[in-house]
Amino acid sequence: MTSLGEPKFRAGQVYDWLHKKQARSFDEMTNLSKSLREKLSQGSELVALQIVRVQESQIDGTRKYLFSLSDGNLIESVFMKYKFGNSVCVSSQVGCRMGCRFCASTLDGVERNLLPSEILDQIYAITRDTGEKISRIVVMGSGEPLDNYDNILKFIQLLSDENGLNMGQRNITVSTCGIVPNMYKLADEKLQINLAISLHASNQAKRQELMPIANKYSIDELIAACKNYFDKTGRQLTFEYSLVGGVNDTDDDADELVALLSDLNCVVNLIPVNPIKERDFVESTRERVLDFQKRLEKRHINATVRREMGRDIDGACGQLRRRHMEENA
Ligand code: SAH
Repeated sequence: MTSLGEPKFRAGQVYDWLHKKQARSFDEMTNLSKSLREKLSQGSELVALQIVRVQESQIDGTRKYLFSLSDGNLIESVFMKYKFGNSVCVSSQVGCRMGCRFCASTLDGVERNLLPSEILDQIYAITRDTGEKISRIVVMGSGEPLDNYDNILKFIQLLSDENGLNMGQRNITVSTCGIVPNMYKLADEKLQINLAISLHASNQAKRQELMPIANKYSIDELIAACKNYFDKTGRQLTFEYSLVGGVNDTDDDADELVALLSDLNCVVNLIPVNPIKERDFVESTRERVLDFQKRLEKRHINATVRREMGRDIDGACGQLRRRHMEENA
């Protein structure tokens, strides 16, 4: 503002328009002079995602959004209603390069990182579209957040800034496939966010089959990084474990998982795998999921089964974007 010859307090006004009132254009900023609004729109771009498609689940009200970015790339986000409040799941990259075998987001690799503004605007756009208050954010959409480290950090700062949405960091969860060095880095940032780790297997050999990242960082190195995260932050860890029928859902898998996690303050979130058409993985039966859960709980590992939401609307990571691109190719 100073460089534009304006008083400093104008910066606060613009910030307020952007992050509290969530303006979509400089023209909405009516307490600024017309000439300043013109100057601003000439010298800068206001990120505003465009809704391309919304699919609402007839089962549970989950809404899946397909947004286009200013360069034409597409990303998806999900709005979920829970008894205790609404959550939004945001994407952190266009595509993903982690290669997890069961995931649709990664089939074509990564296109580019999302900017902090592009991650934030997924939340703003959904707030505006639904008119609902959002109380929790999970960075569990397409992309690997710790592969876009600096932008994710900036996003968390903006999201939890008291002059913006002011979201408590305890209501923000970042999910990683296990980029070990960045997990150590994150532990030192002094944040209060929750860390979720996509584990999906209880030993190195099985994890390597499902997740290429395990070739780079072993399961033991991953668990050591998790311990460090808890020691530094005191935040309970969440392990995501997608159950794939006949692959990682046996009693032996459960017992091995207990041994692996016994020293950690954690909860295991079991997710029946959401089958994608490009792969032949099948989900575990309901009975198997519940037995797996019981086996963990009997040995004092907290385990929850993720409510499956949006199965009728391409709910799994990357499915909607992929289908839309195929249909429009
Ligand atoms: N890259 C991050 C965040 C994105 S994925 C990560 O790996 O954690 C969010 C979660 O959904 C991850 O645990 C991922 O492994 C899981 N996931 C992706 N596709 C899935 C599918 N088809 N079925 C079940 N879980 C899936």
